[in-house]
Amino acid sequence: MTDVVLQLLNVESAYGPIKAIRGVSLKVRQGEIVTVLGSNGAGKTTILKTISGIIDPRKGSIEFQGKDITAKDPAHIVQQGLSHVPEGREVFPLLSVKDNLLMGAYTRKDRDGVARDMESVYAYFPILRERAMQDAGLLSGGQQQMLAISRAIMAAPHLILLDEPSLGLSPKLTKEIFEIVVRINRERGTTILLVEQNANMALNASDHGYVLENGRIVMEDTCERLREKEDIKEFYLGVK
Ligand code: ATP
Repeated sequence: MTDVVLQLLNVESAYGPIKAIRGVSLKVRQGEIVTVLGSNGAGKTTILKTISGIIDPRKGSIEFQGKDITAKDPAHIVQQGLSHVPEGREVFPLLSVKDNLLMGAYTRKDRDGVARDMESVYAYFPILRERAMQDAGLLSGGQQQMLAISRAIMAAPHLILLDEPSLGLSPKLTKEIFEIVVRINRERGTTILLVEQNANMALNASDHGYVLENGRIVMEDTCERLREKEDIKEFYLGVK
């Protein structure tokens, strides 16, 4: 179908002899938030790294907006309109908050658009405007997560890959970040592929979900239906 933005077909990736993902197929449609749930070590981060070109897959193919991006250079993939917010944020600690944001926009030529997007990320996360001139390394974990998401937006992507935004954050901050992620999706029309261990948050925020176990997709459905499944309730939502 034409509204499919991202499609993985039978993707396998490994670290030396360790197979981390074993034949993953998934689709992300235009305008959706799609989540991949899975416990620690299931292979979630590896899926995102393989999509964004950090890891080359051993098998399978990845298509983004109808073009093959399998094993392409990460810089080329960013230019196609795909931004990756890595696990652990990875902001530039010795650069100011503002310069981190500008780094996100370094390939863009539309100065007016960059200025507009800077204003819109400051509107989503007002604390970043307050801290604009401070070194990013001095921000709290939650603020660094806000900065990492904002830096991705500054590239004006069609699709954002979001790796475990809740990691290390309090429930309150996690909720705030998820609310903004949903607003970014609704207001900017940015498609989002989110991987999470926090199933509750992810299923509430997303339209469609995949469940990953030991590198394989074992379930796929709308989040509404996934929330009602007994296995999901028991193993991922902690409800008996
Ligand atoms: P987490 O939530 O802990 O990040 P995950 O679902 O994202 O888990 P991955 O980080 O993708 O899982 O890891 C999948 C498998 O690959 C795990 O068994 C992990 O130990 C292994 N792995 C990940 N990174 C490496 C690496 N650099 N070298 C060797 N093995 C790795």
